[in-house]
Amino acid sequence: MTTLADLRELIAARTDHKSDPDRPAAGYLLWDTLIAAGITPSINLSSAGRAISIDLPDGTSIWVTEQADVSHHPDDHEAWTALHHYDPADPLGPYHLIYEGPRNLGHTADTAACVDAISAWITAHTAVGALARHNAYVALPKGVPRDARRASWMIGYAKPGFNGRHPTTPTTRHTPTHLDRHLNTHTERRGACLACNWEGPARRHQNAAIEDALDHTHPGWRDLPTLPQSVGGRNATLLRAYRDATFPPGWFDTGGPLKVWTTTANDWHEHSKAPGGGYLIKVHRPAPAPAAHQQQTLL
Ligand SMILES: [Zn+2]
Repeated sequence: MTTLADLRELIAARTDHKSDPDRPAAGYLLWDTLIAAGITPSINLSSAGRAISIDLPDGTSIWVTEQADVSHHPDDHEAWTALHHYDPADPLGPYHLIYEGPRNLGHTADTAACVDAISAWITAHTAVGALARHNAYVALPKGVPRDARRASWMIGYAKPGFNGRHPTTPTTRHTPTHLDRHLNTHTERRGACLACNWEGPARRHQNAAIEDALDHTHPGWRDLPTLPQSVGGRNATLLRAYRDATFPPGWFDTGGPLKVWTTTANDWHEHSKAPGGGYLIKVHRPAPAPAAHQQQTLL
């Protein structure tokens, strides 16, 4: 367990000053503010560039410095930079910049804003479930750069449970939705539930994530029949009668999905389009080839 006294020793060793509790360094306030926020800082003694680090339970680490240093005088402070390293053993490996001070706040305000951003980021990074993740996402303060925000899991834009920049509220029954996060190279999706913390595996495609979520909220949905998408008149009445006879009673009242045929490959599933407001699931079936042979017979 490292302490503020250790930090003083480290700074003393690096600046040729004797360890002096009264000699201020910008890192002391950062250290104390992190602890006051319930975050445990530590000192990476092996590297001059990582004076204060925060080790997270998943083995990743956040490093906070001003230009690889925390020992400068508070009056000389310009801005903290906080980096979340996903592989602490590899400083050049993947990371996100989660705070970069605007350089005009001063030492006290910059330290407070930095710890706010780190605290909100840790909440978002460690949250589990659609609600916790999305609500942590919308609570990220302005100081968290755009690239880092986009890399946080959030409920897909305008998808079930999405409530703009406002927190979302839980549903009383298991309700499917999906989460998105935008990494540098690609976007990931995962199915999730608005009533509990269930989450599906990360997927590249939205449809796969939604299907995972339906396995959780409406088991058995894959075995139900697939219907034509839109028909009018008498056919519509017949189709409704067939649907009512085939589907489990109350299926659509619980937000159950409806599978429909589509001739479009990779057609997107649509929420709120099933009879009870559940998902309309698109099942691809190519259009039949033109009946060329029949026409020849008629001629
Ligand atoms: Zn659930």
